[in-house]
Amino acid sequence: MAEQTDARYRKLEPGGEYLLRLENGRDWRLQIEEFADELEIDAAWFNGMGASKDAVIWFYDQESKEYLPKEFHEPFEVAMAVGNVTWLDGERFAHTHVLLTREDGSTVGGHLDSATAFAGEVYVRAFEDRVERAHDPTVTDLDLWSDSDLPETL
Ligand code: ZN
Repeated sequence: MAEQTDARYRKLEPGGEYLLRLENGRDWRLQIEEFADELEIDAAWFNGMGASKDAVIWFYDQESKEYLPKEFHEPFEVAMAVGNVTWLDGERFAHTHVLLTREDGSTVGGHLDSATAFAGEVYVRAFEDRVERAHDPTVTDLDLWSDSDLPETL
């Protein structure tokens, strides 16, 4: 803590590293949240890949400050999933972004709300610390990593 001089970042203590296999037919994001709940992981970073049977992607409109959902009812390769686990509104939240690909190589991507896993392999890097999200009313209207969660600038 003594070397902390900037409130934009926070040093976290490393926790375990895990490989998580997602189950067929169950929600991609929910399975990561359940895993974090089970192991009481309060902060983590993850990446993964696999396949999904469908997807609901939310696009954040920076003007209206609303998420616009898009539903896709088709199979995808999950070429890449990346995200983190933090606390939001009293529960663990797996903030997940994905790049999904079709048979012809075209892509769909963005903020993943839900997707039914066909198969999934996820690498999870856990931390010992707890990270909270808080609503940012000033510019983004998003739930961002909380300033109060970060140490005060000295
Ligand atoms: Zn997002």
